Amino acid sequence: MPDSLKPYSLEAEAARLRGKYAHLSGLPLLEALVGNELQGQIMLSSSFGAESAVLLDLVAQVDVTIPVIFLDTRRLFGETLRYQKTLTDHFGLEDVRIVHPEDGDLMRLDPDDMLFNSDPDKCCGIRKVKPLDNIMKKMGNLGFNAWITGRKHFQSTTRSALSVIEADANFIKINPLADWSSDDIKQAFLEKNLPPHPLVADGFKSIGCMPCTTRVAEGADVRSGRWAGRDKTECGIHLSRSVSIPAIS
Ligand code: SF4
Repeated sequence: MPDSLKPYSLEAEAARLRGKYAHLSGLPLLEALVGNELQGQIMLSSSFGAESAVLLDLVAQVDVTIPVIFLDTRRLFGETLRYQKTLTDHFGLEDVRIVHPEDGDLMRLDPDDMLFNSDPDKCCGIRKVKPLDNIMKKMGNLGFNAWITGRKHFQSTTRSALSVIEADANFIKINPLADWSSDDIKQAFLEKNLPPHPLVADGFKSIGCMPCTTRVAEGADVRSGRWAGRDKTECGIHLSRSVSIPAIS
């Protein structure tokens, strides 16, 4: 990274990295960035959902000490909480950071745990976006300016044009599986004998909070089981972030 990288130059930095590495994906991309170009400045967010084991496996092959941010919204399936422990042990991840919503926000704005029904955007705001903003701000202050996500083109039409390297307001975002197909993911599970999320066998293909996740019909968008019956397609954590990340020095 250049010495004087500032938030407004992140898009230029993303373009520079794309010029060098956009032809890569998966493990070679992670080896180039986690193991070299962005070493010590990059973290990972994982939902420990249906496909998460594939990305965690690749990252763990490069660096098991990379910070892994796991957002526990307090509305997750018990299976997901147990799966997080299973995968952490399986891959030997050394730095999983579990983030929760603030108790005060939950008591004040969602005392009966029904905000998902009346105002899902506000519910995601206090349970996902705000806690993630807070941890990202802390990580940014520690010098972490790049973020690996597990988003993929095939998951939904809203993700079909995703680049492997992009920038939002405050982070370089790396999407090593962007061009992976559903079959690639299945093949990776088979080849590496990765532990499956326990709900996958029950028809869940994209797994988030319990009240907002349903089974997915065969052939439908993988993420169509999230907020089914509503216009909502994203929780907001991958929209442009509001936190202020200092320059890298
Ligand atoms: S996914 Fe549903 S329950 Fe979870 S934070 Fe968003 S609206 Fe609330």
